[in-house]
Amino acid sequence: MTRHLFELPEAFSIPLEGEEARFPVRRIFCVGRNYAAHAAEMGNEVDREAPFYFTKAPAAAIASGATIPYPPGTADFHHEMELAVLIGAPAFRVAVSKAPEVILGYCAALDMTRRDLQGIAKDKRRPWDIGKDFESSAVFAPASRASDVGALGDLRLRLSVNGTIRQDAALGEMVHSVPEIVADLSNYYHLAPGDVILTGTPAGVGPVVAGDVLDGRIGGLEPIHLTVGPAE
Ligand code: MN
Repeated sequence: MTRHLFELPEAFSIPLEGEEARFPVRRIFCVGRNYAAHAAEMGNEVDREAPFYFTKAPAAAIASGATIPYPPGTADFHHEMELAVLIGAPAFRVAVSKAPEVILGYCAALDMTRRDLQGIAKDKRRPWDIGKDFESSAVFAPASRASDVGALGDLRLRLSVNGTIRQDAALGEMVHSVPEIVADLSNYYHLAPGDVILTGTPAGVGPVVAGDVLDGRIGGLEPIHLTVGPAE
């Protein structure tokens, strides 16, 4: 057995509704601008030809129900409520028609964003990492098996902050559907069990401040909760 100088924290994992074994997270991919109304509110055009991606390290992941500190280096911390897709089988250059076969399940997720830092990165044509990939920026609710979820397009995604609805859309409004995203991403990566894809956020993103309580729902999936605490 390999000996290490120190122990790393255990890999982040997502509980599955009604099951003992958890889903360990290998990689986190995120789709940008996958709802036309959100792209418009950010002043961007939707690319209907193909989705585009950024990533978050698994170390950025945290479970629903947490209270997180208002993150360092930002004055504009935003919520983005999204459907997450859990990959359960290897997929490389998979066809759209075959993509559902590699999806193990779904869960509600939050792509928390340092919007001011993302904006600076965009202006300076720098990577988005510092605005997107930081501690506690990827929040995951417990997942459900795909076979228990049914037709995605009819499900409604809603996020409220302190009881006020901020985001409300049908998953059917996605520009690129879940099978299209999985198929496209598999042209660039050997997708494998443990990979997770956040599928983009609808319109209504906005800032949160210390003391805010977020409550997100997607159809009958387990809800997602997050509380924002004071800055450290
Ligand atoms: Mn997002």
